[in-house]
Amino acid sequence: MARKFAVQTQDRKFTAFKEDDEKRWKEPFFFIQAADTQLGMQEKFVERIRDYGWSKELDWCRRTVQDVNAMSPRPKFVVVCGDLLDAWPDSEGTIRTRQEEDFKSVFAELEVPLVCVCGNHDIGNQPTHHTVSKYRSSFGDDFFSFWCGGVFFIVTNTQYYEDATFVPTLAVEHDSWLEEQLEYARRMNPRHTVVFQHIPPFLKDPTEEKMYFNMDISLRYALLERFHNAGIRHVFCGHYHRNAGGFYKDLELVVTSAIGAQLGESKNGYRVVKVLSDCLEHQYYEIGSGPRQVDLSVESKTATEKRDGEEQGGLRPSSAGELGQPS
Ligand SMILES: [Zn+2]
Repeated sequence: MARKFAVQTQDRKFTAFKEDDEKRWKEPFFFIQAADTQLGMQEKFVERIRDYGWSKELDWCRRTVQDVNAMSPRPKFVVVCGDLLDAWPDSEGTIRTRQEEDFKSVFAELEVPLVCVCGNHDIGNQPTHHTVSKYRSSFGDDFFSFWCGGVFFIVTNTQYYEDATFVPTLAVEHDSWLEEQLEYARRMNPRHTVVFQHIPPFLKDPTEEKMYFNMDISLRYALLERFHNAGIRHVFCGHYHRNAGGFYKDLELVVTSAIGAQLGESKNGYRVVKVLSDCLEHQYYEIGSGPRQVDLSVESKTATEKRDGEEQGGLRPSSAGELGQPS
């Protein structure tokens, strides 16, 4: 019998992990970070096909699920950092419902928990109470937090920072919730605190100009400083459909390309993120070429370098060759 997709959040917590069991650090683990499955974008936006479908995205999603299910050991979870589907919830509701059914039938086969992050395509560029509640009934809370393996994860909804014209109360609620999470992280002082969100504060350099794919400059600095103050050193995003990233102080911002349509030189893929005792290591893989065996026993390269008095970043960024060029 086919598996059924289950919504896995409740009261702004991710319910696949039991908080009491997960608060304590035990050993290194890994998770898969992906973004922008965005069913429909390839034919509609990239190929400009009038009667577009989303068989290509479904194929990429299916192959990603196969890759992950074949990994040994298994990742703790897969996170898709927003834009799960392409169709707009207000103006393309019928198409979106079909995309949602297809998304769920593919990801129901995933044998580890799926963490869904809310993107602009999921609630609209100008979210409304209607689009937000539709998202919540389909995919669960649009912002929440959870513990996994001694690490505290915070999932934000960046669309409230982009345009809260029609949802000012939700935006305030989100921001005060975020502040609570940051205070909690400061108090609990976990091994690592990691943020997942859709829109990156910046793409390569914190000083870069505001554009479609990053956040407003003053908002960006305020948010990054709040994250940094709470001890957060790792923020993973999507939205750009290319690999990118950079540093704000010693906080690494990782922008991961899409499982779905590409807008640059990156290949459809996902990122393997190893969570080690003293740092995170991450590497982007094209779908179909991810590792079967994930070695978590080795001491991190960064730790060795640190001892040698070299790199102080605490993270090993992905190789420069993977960074997609803007199209
Ligand atoms: Zn997006």
